[in-house]
Amino acid sequence: MGAFGIRGMCWRRNRMKQIYAGLLVSSILIGIWLLLQAQTEHNDTVFKLNQEIQTLRAKIHRIQTHEVDTSIPIIYVITPTYTRPVQKAELTRLMNAFTLVPNLHWIIVEDSSSKTDLVKNLLTSFPKPSTHLNIQTPAKMKLKPKDKWWSKPRGVFQRNLALSWLKENEKNKEGIIYFADDDNTYSVDLFEEIRGTKRVSVLPVGLVGGVKVEKPQVSGGKVVGWEVGWGNERPFAVDMAGFAINLQYFLKHTDVKFLEQVKVGHQESEFLFQLVSLDQLEPVAVGRVLVWHTRTQALNLNREDWFLKHYGYSSDTGIEL
Ligand code: UDP
Ligand code: MN
Repeated sequence: MGAFGIRGMCWRRNRMKQIYAGLLVSSILIGIWLLLQAQTEHNDTVFKLNQEIQTLRAKIHRIQTHEVDTSIPIIYVITPTYTRPVQKAELTRLMNAFTLVPNLHWIIVEDSSSKTDLVKNLLTSFPKPSTHLNIQTPAKMKLKPKDKWWSKPRGVFQRNLALSWLKENEKNKEGIIYFADDDNTYSVDLFEEIRGTKRVSVLPVGLVGGVKVEKPQVSGGKVVGWEVGWGNERPFAVDMAGFAINLQYFLKHTDVKFLEQVKVGHQESEFLFQLVSLDQLEPVAVGRVLVWHTRTQALNLNREDWFLKHYGYSSDTGIEL
């Protein structure tokens, strides 16, 4: 074997080494490429699934908050409310009932100079469309502790603000307006009774006006008078909870609003007088009581002062009542 032969073998060995190294490097590169490819695919799948989740979340949100069923009118429920110990309990009772009503839009108007967190949070947990407004009743119109509860109109400025809001924001909608004070109890059935209101519908109200039931007197499908414990002579002897108005009908009657100065107990009558005549009223829920003026009983908080002295803080410190 000559020198040439040895050199030739070395060259071949080197060549083999280079080929192996080349193969190794390329398989590593292919491996990395495959890994990157898999990673990209994985990322794409995750991205796609996340998008699907987003779409479903949006869908759930839409269903929960805007059950838009254009075949039935929206019921706009207007609730004036003010801060006091029973407020959250009252509004929670309302919220639980309203949650069960399809196509309902709750308008809460606080009697205050600013919106409170209590109402803000309550509406955040309400799974339907809602509007949060506030307007403070002027001091001279406000009920003082020594005033008789019926001596000043309550909720007047708040209901009027809600009506203005409807005029400005919902004028193209098919809807029904219903005034739901926060101290009443509402049956879910009530809302289906008033949903067909063409002008103004009227219905019985329980536990109000000093009697068990106040109701329109109905004859031949028409309202012919009122069966009430007092104020029978009022043109419309009906409680705030005892009527509903068609939104489009209301919008045709500009300037209709609750009056700041009325004879005691005449608020509803004076309001409806601007809108309809007796023979135009539509009786609904005939023979059924679907709303009660329950009123929370006068509170007994007479140990609160003792609590404060004993513990050094009031009983609702750090916990929303
Ligand atoms: N209200 C209000 N500010 C007040 C008193 C009452 O906004 O200073 C609200 C109250 O929360 C309720 C409505 O107005 O939704 C009617 O008040 P209330 O039930 O006391 O009146 P009544 O039914 O006795 O006429
Ligand atoms: Mn009331």
